[in-house]
Amino acid sequence: MRRSLLDILACPVCKGDLSLEVEEEDDEEVLKGKLICKSCGAEYPIEDGIPNMLPPELREKVKG
Ligand SMILES: [Zn+2]
Repeated sequence: MRRSLLDILACPVCKGDLSLEVEEEDDEEVLKGKLICKSCGAEYPIEDGIPNMLPPELREKVKG
């Protein structure tokens, strides 16, 4: 995902602002890392450049 996407994205749980933690990036995009909600603390992983914006609760259900 591009860093500019951070301005558009909001926490799906509480609509709060997200902060970005980068593990891996190229010239244009963040490839790996996570988005963390500043309000409720929920974490959303970024894998292969794609942010997983499912609420944590729902994510667990999908995985299981
Ligand atoms: Zn939140």
